[in-house]
Amino acid sequence: MNDLYSNTPLIESLSVGAGLDARVWLKLEAMQPCGSFKARGIGFACKKYLEDGATSLVSSSGGNAGLAVAHAGRLLGTSVTVVVPQTTKKRAIDLIKREGAEVIVHGKNWDEAHQRALLIAQDKAAYIHPFDDPPIWEGHISLVDEIYKTGVRPDVIVLSVGGGGLLCGVVEGLKRHTWHDVPVVAVETVGADCFSAACRANEHIAIDGIDSIATSLGAKKVAKRAFELRNEHQIYNYVVSDKDALDGCNRFLEDHRILVEPACGASLSVVYNEADVLSDRQNIVIIVCGGVGVTVTQLKEWNQLFLE
Ligand SMILES: *Cc1c(COP(=O)(O)O)cnc(C)c1O
Repeated sequence: MNDLYSNTPLIESLSVGAGLDARVWLKLEAMQPCGSFKARGIGFACKKYLEDGATSLVSSSGGNAGLAVAHAGRLLGTSVTVVVPQTTKKRAIDLIKREGAEVIVHGKNWDEAHQRALLIAQDKAAYIHPFDDPPIWEGHISLVDEIYKTGVRPDVIVLSVGGGGLLCGVVEGLKRHTWHDVPVVAVETVGADCFSAACRANEHIAIDGIDSIATSLGAKKVAKRAFELRNEHQIYNYVVSDKDALDGCNRFLEDHRILVEPACGASLSVVYNEADVLSDRQNIVIIVCGGVGVTVTQLKEWNQLFLE
């Protein structure tokens, strides 16, 4: 069997945050075979549930999570069903099907697709949550293990937050390597800022709806564990505009010839814009989370939209 994820490069960037008096490192999760870091946690969870007796896998994400489940299922030789809402783009469905998964289009929105997926999961199929499950976080830890092995000691880690699965995994990883004092900048976009909203309210609340082009950050409520982590670890909330996230994508494509989703451009923009929280750091590590929900055509459309 192939590994369910790749060990990704950590490369230094002389372009991103060039004006900062720091070395900037890119953890290139965009290089994962399924296009995002989700390969790690989701691959780990899929393997675990199959070992525990599940005979098939179910997901309700038309995005990177669904693709990661399909990818893991193919490598593990297990059937996968992905239920997606009617709003899902054909390209996303094609990518999932190409991994050999069955795609069921059901419901007007994610909640309805999710309910159907739970029904399917009642028998022997394991439902794989996109972010809110301890095995997912455990799987994401490998990302920090790899940074640790390079010998680069981060003074700050910049990452994007949707439901907070990546955040939970990275903070667990920092703890594992006794990097308790390494703060995390948790980046969201306006309209997909459920973590920041909950932190501001000091209560584990949900936001009313999602309104951002960074669709991979579109969770209404952050995982409870992520919310709790703010009392255990130094986490800075950071919310950027869609325009900033898009600029992050454009500049990164220009500088490093890698196309990423706005969900990822959001984190990059914080470093490009030399946010105050990054001053006086020697080594800045950005998790370049990646994402397949972007094409050159789509990027052009977004750029048109924001020119108006
Ligand atoms: C899933 C995803 C995120 C958000 O991850 P969470 O674990 O939900 O916080 C960010 N960027 C990309 C590209 C993703 O696929």
